[in-house]
Amino acid sequence: AKSSGKNQFVFCSQEMKEEIEQTMVITSNLYHALDRSELAIVYQPQVSIETGQIIAVEALARWYHPELGLISPAIFIPIAEHTSLINLIGEWILKESCQQIKKWHNKGLLPIRVAVNVSVNQLLNTNFVNKVMKILADTGLDSKYLELEITENIAIQESDYIFDVLSKLKALGISLAIDDFGTEYSSLNRIKLLPVDRLKIDMHFISGILNNEKDKVIVDVIIKLAKDLNLKVIAEGVETQEQLNYLLEKKCDEVQGYFFYKPLSTSDMEEVLTNLI
Ligand code: C2E
Ligand code: CA
Ligand code: CA
Ligand code: CA
Repeated sequence: AKSSGKNQFVFCSQEMKEEIEQTMVITSNLYHALDRSELAIVYQPQVSIETGQIIAVEALARWYHPELGLISPAIFIPIAEHTSLINLIGEWILKESCQQIKKWHNKGLLPIRVAVNVSVNQLLNTNFVNKVMKILADTGLDSKYLELEITENIAIQESDYIFDVLSKLKALGISLAIDDFGTEYSSLNRIKLLPVDRLKIDMHFISGILNNEKDKVIVDVIIKLAKDLNLKVIAEGVETQEQLNYLLEKKCDEVQGYFFYKPLSTSDMEEVLTNLI
């Protein structure tokens, strides 16, 4: 037992060392990811549960490094958030996805909305609202086709500044969604006051819907809360027919997940939209 304990200790510290090294390698490479055109966006459809129609797509960042391979946004976005890089990367993603959606609209494809993830550092950047306005003006995309996804922990920060920024974005005609809803302890009063349009139920609860009573209760409560507050509600991470049936029964408005579509490259997404006409 003693020697296995020792091995475990050695194993752990080695792992930590590798993790620190990995973070350093990623950080230094991330600085060049934009100018080397290594970043891309994939699009995952959001579907109306009632009509089965695609109403929007979520833009998700991808980083293809020539040597390191595909690096998940779950790894590089948090690293970018620790530097000012998130502002540059976030702005690029916003511009690129607005431009792409507008292109599809111009081609006469289904006029879908795009949902773009926004980090707290971006929202706190003094110029954020102006940057968004400029992107809409430059790309010609009508603000009603843009939604910003903000995580629950940002939304519930007791900050007048954030409230002010969200109100300004809302006044521009942009819609706002609270992402990963249910994972933080929101003050319901705060949610009620926020100028948001949509709650996005975290996929963790969706995966537990059929076998975990607590997850089921949480999903029910979120859907009910959304209805009571006149907000739309979308479930992410829907992978099975059974999960879909449950959400249908509970009258969830929209769904997103592998059961319908995985995140698609620009050309695959365009093909899906083209086949709808
Ligand atoms: P998120 O915003 O909660 O995005 C949902 C994640 O779940 C995505 O992972 C998506 O590919 C994945 N997903 C969708 N449907 C299913 C499903 O049915 N089953 C399973 N198992 N997974 C599903 P992805 O693309 O790896 O993104 C991970 C996280 O990285 C995102 O979580 C978001 O927090 C962050 N992220 C991605 N792109 C951006 C971005 O452009 N900006 C910012 N700030 N964050 C981003
Ligand atoms: Ca999201
Ligand atoms: Ca989410
Ligand atoms: Ca998430």
